[in-house]
Amino acid sequence: MSSLDNLPIRSDLRGLEPYGAPQLDVSVQLNVNENTFGIPESVAISIVEKVAQATIGLNRYPDREFLGLRSALAQYLGQGLTSEQIWAANGSNEILQQFFTAFGGPERKALSFGPTYSMYPNIARGTLTNYSELPREASYELSPEYLVAEIQREKPDIVILCTPNNPTGNSITLEAIAAAYGAFDGMLLVDEAYQEFSSQESAISLLPTRQRLVVSRTMSKAFAFAGARLGYMASDPSVIDAMRIVRLPYHLSSLTQAAALAAIEHAKELLANVDQIKIQRDRIIAAAVDFGLTVQPSDANFVLVSGIKDPERIFEKLLERGVLIRNVGIANSLRITAGTEPETTKLIAELGLLLD
Ligand SMILES: *Cc1c(COP(=O)(O)O)cnc(C)c1O
Repeated sequence: MSSLDNLPIRSDLRGLEPYGAPQLDVSVQLNVNENTFGIPESVAISIVEKVAQATIGLNRYPDREFLGLRSALAQYLGQGLTSEQIWAANGSNEILQQFFTAFGGPERKALSFGPTYSMYPNIARGTLTNYSELPREASYELSPEYLVAEIQREKPDIVILCTPNNPTGNSITLEAIAAAYGAFDGMLLVDEAYQEFSSQESAISLLPTRQRLVVSRTMSKAFAFAGARLGYMASDPSVIDAMRIVRLPYHLSSLTQAAALAAIEHAKELLANVDQIKIQRDRIIAAAVDFGLTVQPSDANFVLVSGIKDPERIFEKLLERGVLIRNVGIANSLRITAGTEPETTKLIAELGLLLD
C-alpha cells in the first residue's frame, strides 16, 4: 500500500494537501482571475513563429540571463527602467519563491496584511520562513499610519503588500507604500499582479532611491497569458543579483522566453480587452448592489461580493448552472472574476435567480 503517510516527508508538511483552486470543465470559469478573452489568432501565429525558431536551438540550454526578454519587459514598464532592473521567472509565484529563498529563511519573518493572496503563506512555508498576517483596517484599507505602527511593532524582515489586493480588489496608496518602506530595514515586495486594471499609479515610480523595494508583475492576468507562466519584477539591480544566486540555472526555458517576447511585441492587442473587462467588473458591482449585497470598490478584474447568507450554497448552485466562481473563505463573501460580456450576463442572471 503506498500512501504519502508512509514517507519521511518534512514534519511541517505532513498531512498537507496540494494547494490550488478547482479546475473544472464548465462553460463560465470566473474563479482564478484570468483574462477570459482568448489570444487573437494573429497574435497566436506570431507567438508560434517565435517559438518555432527557438525550437531549432533546443539542443542548447536557454540564455540564463535572458537580457532580450528583460529589456523588452523594461520597455513595456517604461519609467526609464533598464534590463538590469528586471528579472523574470515561471509566473510571479516563482518570483516570490526566489525572493523568499534569497531574503527569507528560518531566522527570518515575513509580514503581510490579510485577507490577501493565499500563496504568501504557502511560499513562506516552503522556504521555512516565518509568516504572519495582520488584519487590515475597516473596508480592508491600509493607511500609512497603521502600516508604519504595525511594521515597527513586528520588525519583519520581509513585508508583502498586494495592490490591487487579491481578494478584496482595493489598492494601497503610493504614500502608504513609501511609509511602509521607511518603517523598517527589510525587503518590501509590492505585488502588482493586477496593475494593468488599476486606476492608481504603479509603485515602480518609487523605485529610484529605494534599494530594498521590489515591484512584482505577471503576464497571467491582464496580458491573457496565464498558461505561458511568465512573472517578472522590477527593482534595484542588486536585488536581482540576490535572485540570481538562488534561481535554478536555466529556470526560464527558451520556449517561454520566445513566447513571452512575442507576446510583449503584441502587448497592445493582448491588453485590448482591459477596458472591456473593467466595464464587466462594474456591471457585477452594480448588479450586486441591486441584489442588496455589499461590494468592495475594485481596481482589479474581480469583485469581492459580501452580505451573502450562505456563500457555499450559492457557489455550488452557480456551479450546477455552469458558472464557477471562488469561495475564498471570507465570511458571507464570494470572489467573482469579470469575464466577457456574455459570461458576465450569464453570471448576473444566475446569481439574481439564486438570491431571489
Ligand atoms: C494571480 C496572482 C499572481 C500571479 O501568479 P502567476 O504565478 O504570475 O500566475 C500573483 N499575485 C497575486 C496577488 C495574484 O492574484
